[in-house]
Amino acid sequence: MPNYRFRCAEGCEFDAMYSMSDVPRQAACAACGALAKRVITAPHLSASGGSAYGLLDRAARSAHEPQVVDRLPGRGAAPRQPVSRNPLHAKLPRP
Ligand SMILES: [Zn+2]
Repeated sequence: MPNYRFRCAEGCEFDAMYSMSDVPRQAACAACGALAKRVITAPHLSASGGSAYGLLDRAARSAHEPQVVDRLPGRGAAPRQPVSRNPLHAKLPRP
């Protein structure tokens, strides 16, 4: 069901869910009780859950909430190579 936004004369805004066939042009304001008119807003595309929208949300979030980096990429988190104690392994060619 779509989410519709309403704004009353006092400036209160609220969202309400209606089916597309039952959405009224006016609704009672949730805060002051006055009649609120339905307003046109941008669709909430990110609520659809698609991977493209998730990417757009992460890009927008990184603009004002960048992730903290505490080490250089590729260093510090590298898995340790297994160490052999066999002296014959020391003669093997190194990569
Ligand atoms: Zn109001």
